[in-house]
Amino acid sequence: MVQEKGTISINTENIFPIIKKFLYSDNEIFLRELVSNAVDASQKVKRLATLGHYGQPLGDLKVKVAVDKEAKTITISDSGIGMTAEEIKKYINQVAFSGATEFMEKFKEAKDANEIIGRFGLGFYSAFMVADKVEIQTLSYQDGAEPARWVCDGSTSFEITEGSRTERGTDVILYVNAESEEFLEEHRIGAILDKYAKFLPVPVQFGTKTEREPDGEDEEGKPKYKSVEVDNIINNTNPIWTKAPADLKDEDYLDFYRELYPFSEEPLFWIHLNVDYPFHLTGVLYFPKLKNDFEVQKNKIKLFSRQVFITDEVKDIVPEFLLLLHGVIDSPDIPLNVSRSFLQADSNVKKINSYISRKVADKLSELFKKDRKAYEEKWGDIGIFVKYGALSDDKFYDKAKEFLLLGNTSKETYTLEEYSIKVKDFQTDKDGQLVYLYTPDPEGQDSYIQAAIKKGYDVLLMNSPIDTHFIHHLETKLEKTSLKRVDADVIDKLIVKEDAAKHQLTEDESNQLKTIFDKAISNPAMKVEVESLPADAMPVTITMEEWMRRMKDMAKLGGGGGMNFYGSMPDNYKVAINANHKIIEKILKADEAQQTAMAKQAFDLAMLAQGLLKGADLTAFVERSVEVI
Ligand code: ADP
Repeated sequence: MVQEKGTISINTENIFPIIKKFLYSDNEIFLRELVSNAVDASQKVKRLATLGHYGQPLGDLKVKVAVDKEAKTITISDSGIGMTAEEIKKYINQVAFSGATEFMEKFKEAKDANEIIGRFGLGFYSAFMVADKVEIQTLSYQDGAEPARWVCDGSTSFEITEGSRTERGTDVILYVNAESEEFLEEHRIGAILDKYAKFLPVPVQFGTKTEREPDGEDEEGKPKYKSVEVDNIINNTNPIWTKAPADLKDEDYLDFYRELYPFSEEPLFWIHLNVDYPFHLTGVLYFPKLKNDFEVQKNKIKLFSRQVFITDEVKDIVPEFLLLLHGVIDSPDIPLNVSRSFLQADSNVKKINSYISRKVADKLSELFKKDRKAYEEKWGDIGIFVKYGALSDDKFYDKAKEFLLLGNTSKETYTLEEYSIKVKDFQTDKDGQLVYLYTPDPEGQDSYIQAAIKKGYDVLLMNSPIDTHFIHHLETKLEKTSLKRVDADVIDKLIVKEDAAKHQLTEDESNQLKTIFDKAISNPAMKVEVESLPADAMPVTITMEEWMRRMKDMAKLGGGGGMNFYGSMPDNYKVAINANHKIIEKILKADEAQQTAMAKQAFDLAMLAQGLLKGADLTAFVERSVEVI
């Protein structure tokens, strides 16, 4: 007996084909929407009971998802508050479509299904992305309520009739359309539930599973077991981020980490986030052990809204430098259904960003103060976050100053302040400028490092991918301090203490020497200069000026604009001839053929020390050296 027929209040033509077509790529979220509705309805009836507005037993409040392959239906059932026929009209027919006219105008601008569904209150209607026909069977919790049934075939007409449900709650039955039959596969539904519903606050049942249960003893007194079918509950209703930190042990955090990332190494440490004001946010962020491939490690933070999984693209909510962290964030205050640009401008999102960044800084500072040794051991992994954070966020840098460590080639670490005190005496140049020396490659630059150490200098290790930028940043932040790569110049000129001493060669001799080397090297990218260096320094040293090398490093990292110009330039090196070395005298006195040979050999030795001697040049050098022996 038909109670009522009508038309969904919408004054435009059929909206469903549009929903279907437009949302097709994201269509799996229909299940998230319907299961969340069922969870909401279950929580509502629980709340009513707590408030004393509902006196009947609550019973089992599970939400059930069932697939019937034969009938080609998916059914989502709950024992929540249910709806009366009046409420169906109000909540399903009208509410969902109050925004329909607006929707028709704006759907063209929408970027994805989430945006449309959230902005236009179409959660329930996302069912039509996968179904030709949707049926609701529901019985309201209210005293004396009649069961009601609603059917809609995807056109704008619907039907409300007497329903058949005898227990409080709602079934939503989707008659899956031909293009969406993939959703009749259990593993597909299982996977979607695992993605979106894994931490919902009400138990969600999907199918059954077999369990072993004790079944008395056999004749020998050994315990017997039998197999029983039990409901398969797919979710953990109380994930740790919903609990108070005081109630949790380290093991709980580690267990949860394993649950989220089954194949990952243990995290280094974690931060439990918990704010009520001025926005709501809970979560747990883990610091992972870093791998070289950072990109793979991004997009590991999962964003939830009241325990419903939303996305693992949290770019706009989490400060850029913390995207390498793992874990979960749950906030009902993050607008989930708006466009990217709006999200970035949202004041809550901005506050959340700085809150997270501050919490991370506080945690690092606490770790550093509590146990410096343990902190130093982790520095290899956390250093990259801290440096990245210091680079991208000034407020973070201000906090990080205390716990930002510099490591040297002797494996010692210093805070910024400690380091400036350590090197002040030996590494201040004639203009009062502190010069920090560093190496990105301690093995390859060993000869330069040893020369520096012999002179009483210290050499910092700067070998992480971010260091090129970090070095520059330090210079802008530290007062009267500059950084130089240890091979940026000959040792006496790295840190200029007084005006260079003159060497004993005459101008003629110098010019002659330059000509000999130019000829021997015969490479225009090698700029030969005669310098006054200690007699025991190398006869020839090859260096690349700090600024030139930095420009090239930046260009390699993809710095835009002018950087590409430097990237395309050939490598220009300085070849410093040590006028004070014994060998120079010999070269000047030798005959022409010998001069070239000796100059070439001295130059190749310098190339070798810089790791630049390769291929045919290296082979020729080895052969020549053998002949000398
Ligand atoms: P939203 O959930 O954003 O309000 P929906 O279109 O998903 O939008 O649902 C519209 C309304 O229909 C809900 O607010 C709720 O009142 C009602 N509703 C939907 N599903 C159920 C359900 N399973 N049990 C009870 N009421 C429901």
